Amino acid sequence: MSATRILLLGAPGAGKGTQASALIKRLGVLHVSTGDMLRKAVAEGTEIGLKAKAIMDSGKLVSDEIVIAIAEERLAQPDAANGFVLDGFPRTRAQAEALASMLDKNGTPLERCVALTVDIDAVVERLLKRAELEGRADDNEETIRERMRVYDAQTAPLLEFYKIAGLLSEVDGMGTVEEVSARVETALADS
Ligand code: AMP
Repeated sequence: MSATRILLLGAPGAGKGTQASALIKRLGVLHVSTGDMLRKAVAEGTEIGLKAKAIMDSGKLVSDEIVIAIAEERLAQPDAANGFVLDGFPRTRAQAEALASMLDKNGTPLERCVALTVDIDAVVERLLKRAELEGRADDNEETIRERMRVYDAQTAPLLEFYKIAGLLSEVDGMGTVEEVSARVETALADS
């Protein structure tokens, strides 16, 4: 049986959002993107949005406390019971541990972590193109470099965390959307 509680891990611009969208369509599960939730909070001017905006614009990470709270709240809703694809959460060891303890408590542990591996120069180019298309304030070159640095320092160590947990599949994230999707499907089928 195919996994339905999935984490997509990868550097900013690795294609997590695109692959998450394809997966949720195929599996009929929930897409949980803390980046999308935070951007919505910023757009709506909520208290969390006001706190998060400057941090997001600088390319740094919003506090574990805030992010864990919004992810847990979303995952606790009934529509998460069929499964989910996590995209952009967890990004730190503390977030990964909080997620594991929440899911374990509910008896619904993560089933697979798919890590998209990419060439960083190609990714920076991809992000600059996306900046032109979407006009995201956190997509100028300086912020992109900071996001990469933060990824290396805080999020990349999660690869080891999920490897030790026996959940990690590394997938080549370079190529067309269809090519990468096919590799992700294979990785999930093999798990
Ligand atoms: P994303 O769209 O996932 O690249 O997220 C955009 C920005 O939102 C990030 O650069 C962070 O500032 C913030 N953010 C999203 N998810 C998290 C997270 N799990 N932990 C901390 N900050 C996050």
